[in-house]
Amino acid sequence: MSLPLLEIHRRLYDSLIADLARSGRGVKESGAFLLGALDGQRRCVSSYLMYDKVAPLSSSQHAYVAFTAQEMARAWEHCYAVGLQVVADVHTHPFGPAQSVSDRAHPIVSVAGHVALIVPNFAKGDPQPRDLGVHLFGGCGRWDSMFREQASQAIRFA
Ligand SMILES: [Zn+2]
Repeated sequence: MSLPLLEIHRRLYDSLIADLARSGRGVKESGAFLLGALDGQRRCVSSYLMYDKVAPLSSSQHAYVAFTAQEMARAWEHCYAVGLQVVADVHTHPFGPAQSVSDRAHPIVSVAGHVALIVPNFAKGDPQPRDLGVHLFGGCGRWDSMFREQASQAIRFA
């Protein structure tokens, strides 16, 4: 596998982390679709779509990330309208960057090669790529998880 998996501008990364922290207010999980272009293994993130924009109802009712079918459809409509693909997803956890049982069982995009990022501590405290969990979906319930040095190599600032 060739690293990095994900390229993102430093400024976009910082604004994403700030939005995730603001959306979760330190008390609940928040998340976003990372949008951009897919070029083989290379995923270039050019914008993101916060879950609370797509799913204001679910976001206000649950402490964790959950979508209705209608909300998912709205997200795909948005991507289609702006001509971008979902190249990864990201969500926060109260503690560590490892996946929960539910995260592993329900990929946001159930396609082999999909990347799911997990930001610890509700994205508080200016987390850097090496603090994140980078989880690569291999299909059929399999995931490869990268932390620390590997995570920092998997996310490159463009
Ligand atoms: Zn999770």
